[in-house]
Amino acid sequence: MEEILDREFYVNHLPEGGTGYGAAQNAGDVVAVVTTSPVGASGALMKSLPNLEAVVNFGVGYETTDVDTARQLGIAVSNTPDVLTDCVADLAVGLTIDVTRGISAADRYVRRGQWPEGAHPLGRRVSGLRVGVIGLGRIGRAIARRMEAFGNTVSYHSRRRVEDVPYYWHESVSVLAAESDVLIVAVSGGPSTESLVSRDVLDALGPDGFLINIARGSVVDEDALIHALVERRIAGAALDVFGHEPHVPEALFELDNVVLTPHLGSATVETRQAMADLFLENVRMFMSTGRVRTPVF
Ligand code: NAP
Repeated sequence: MEEILDREFYVNHLPEGGTGYGAAQNAGDVVAVVTTSPVGASGALMKSLPNLEAVVNFGVGYETTDVDTARQLGIAVSNTPDVLTDCVADLAVGLTIDVTRGISAADRYVRRGQWPEGAHPLGRRVSGLRVGVIGLGRIGRAIARRMEAFGNTVSYHSRRRVEDVPYYWHESVSVLAAESDVLIVAVSGGPSTESLVSRDVLDALGPDGFLINIARGSVVDEDALIHALVERRIAGAALDVFGHEPHVPEALFELDNVVLTPHLGSATVETRQAMADLFLENVRMFMSTGRVRTPVF
């Protein structure tokens, strides 16, 4: 993508983690910022670029971009929705099966040569589980559809009831957790969902409940989660996202009832290609028409 951008446009690379754009770098020439969710585009960056008209984000989560400031300044923001939905939902199902049946733990058990010592502990039946989805957006719905195929009941929490689905809506995350065997986090990141999965929610999920997070690490109170896992107040967790990626709390490494993946949600050849295509379409369309293909507002 960087090669294509360099070939087609005049590109300046900001230093890693850069928040402002020095005057020496022709700030007035910049009309578009391209970014990805670990970095985003801050309000300060936008204000330092007087002719900025678009922020084009690679990926669906744009919580690190200051959308309110963009809106105020009339700057368009785009992301790459839909094209990654299936892959992220597939991973959520894979993580659910892994942590409930203990696939990764059993793999370690075999590799450690423990099988001759006795049978691996029993897992939990996936079919028939009560699945609670936090955030019934594009990915949440795709997870729900897959879970229905397993004969699971699905209920969900989001700020508003979704009218065209057969799933039960819970206004309270704690009540959803209490009514679920598996709680799957598929909600947007950002301040409004920070630590939405709190100690109380984990306690409501209870010692037979599993937590799956494919959304953002910030949505889960990570310290509360570690305590709940260590003290066996929940049955297990499967996590694709963390509070301080790429660093994962070492306390989790010791636990056999935890599955850890390094932010793999959209990480397939097919989906990353589709994301790159949509991202480039947004850049090219903006540069030729002044509009983006998939605006977030
Ligand atoms: P989406 O279609 O925008 O869905 C977001 C959902 O979150 C909506 O149902 C929304 O419902 C809900 N929501 C937002 N704020 C909320 C709040 N404060 N309280 C309760 N619910 C809230 O987005 P998507 O495409 O499904 O993606 C969801 C998230 O997945 C992304 O934002 C991203 O962070 C994450 N993601 C992770 C990976 C990965 O690699 N692991 C890949 C792609 C995406 P209401 O507005 O009705 O509340």
